[in-house]
Amino acid sequence: LKRTVRDFCKKNGLLTLSVIAVLTGCTLGFMLRGTQLSTQAKIYFSFPGELLMRMLKMLILPLITSSLMSGLSSMESKACCRMGVLTVTYYLWTTFIAVVVGIVLVIIIKPGVGTEMDSNRLGGGPVMTSADALLDLIRNMVPSNLIEATFQQYKTDLIPILKVPARTIQPNFVYVIPDDSDPKGRTVYLELTPPPEIVYKTSPGTSQQMNVLGIVIFSATMGLLLGRMGERGAPLVNVCQCINECVMKIINAAVWYFPFGIIFLVAGKILDMQDPSTLGKKLGWYGITVLSGLFVHGLILLPLFYFILTKKNPFSYIRGLLQAMVIALATSSSSATLPITMKCLLENCNVDRQIARFVLPVGATINMDGTALYEAVAAIFIAQVNDYELDFGQLVTISITATAASIGAAGIPQAGLVTMVIVLTSVGLPPDDITLIVAIDWILDRFRTMINVLGDALAAGIIAHLCRKDFPLSESGKHVPSYGT
Ligand code: ASP
Repeated sequence: LKRTVRDFCKKNGLLTLSVIAVLTGCTLGFMLRGTQLSTQAKIYFSFPGELLMRMLKMLILPLITSSLMSGLSSMESKACCRMGVLTVTYYLWTTFIAVVVGIVLVIIIKPGVGTEMDSNRLGGGPVMTSADALLDLIRNMVPSNLIEATFQQYKTDLIPILKVPARTIQPNFVYVIPDDSDPKGRTVYLELTPPPEIVYKTSPGTSQQMNVLGIVIFSATMGLLLGRMGERGAPLVNVCQCINECVMKIINAAVWYFPFGIIFLVAGKILDMQDPSTLGKKLGWYGITVLSGLFVHGLILLPLFYFILTKKNPFSYIRGLLQAMVIALATSSSSATLPITMKCLLENCNVDRQIARFVLPVGATINMDGTALYEAVAAIFIAQVNDYELDFGQLVTISITATAASIGAAGIPQAGLVTMVIVLTSVGLPPDDITLIVAIDWILDRFRTMINVLGDALAAGIIAHLCRKDFPLSESGKHVPSYGT
């Protein structure tokens, strides 16, 4: 028995350490919640976790550019096209299935039914449409400045405008308006009667997040063109291969720091956790609905698709991905997990490098089954809380907008919460009601990120099987990874 345990630890050492780290982080976080730590102390405490996130984010840019440029340069354009079409079709299909699973479960479980809320709140509110989200997606595909794309992406902002009737200003109602133009951050107080009308204008703004989609599109185009240039393109392809090899070596070394970082990342998050809102029990049922949906989709349907399409055991494939799933759980970010997902696919799942290099970065930006499922459940939960009956047409609208909103969401923590405005406004629900679910969103985010990562990795295995004629290595099973060659 001792030997078996030792063998197991040797083989799964890193994974075991990471799981222990998550549990230790949870325990430590809950123990310290009782003590009143100062903000400064919390910052110091979260520092090792912050370092982990920074390491992962540091690797995303060189990994994506070098992988796509060197990977696609050695591919035939016809094979490339086939792989691209298959990948996008599969991603759309599974995301839509995830939404349907979510809708069915939330209608059966009814987590929000029976809550007393003021139904006059429906209607109004800020409006961000699916068209805005689509425009943002296209804007992000075509970055106007590549350097800027490494730290900024487009995100439609809702700008509140106060319409004040000129003649009726009396000191009664107090409006608190933070003045953004004031460097000292002072606030302007207005006293107005009757209350002014607040209207919202949508306008494309930028957020301080890397535009991964823009970088993926640019690097893929460069990779394809480099392949066509033959000898002349070879020096740049060599450079990319060297960078890729170095990045994978850095990842191999950095993973040993991860368990330590995970402890503080998880504990720090628990320290910052808000107390659940007044909805209490309902919110618990809502959480259970989302988690059951993620379970059904991630551990039943996706493996079933994998089995039907490849005739191989999905669970031995998933076993090779556990390390990436723990990192997704700890970081809540599929983009940050990308380096580890890549490592798992190449080392444990024998997926062809060229396929993994294309399918994973694209998946980390557009394929978010977990997010889509959660958006649909959350929107219908909010409708139930408001005692708002949704007809069949509105359910269809939710399924389409939830799919679109998940495609538009970035692979970063709680991005889905932001794009949910689109789903809510599409059926006339108050976007401000996002506050009802925000208290437990950080936990759900961790689990949906795991399913997002799992969906991308299973897709890579399926595409590798479907394209096995174009990429004979992908099915050899004897693939020994030697990065960058
Ligand atoms: N955190 C998720 C991810 O990175 C996105 C979301 O659902 O908020 O995949």
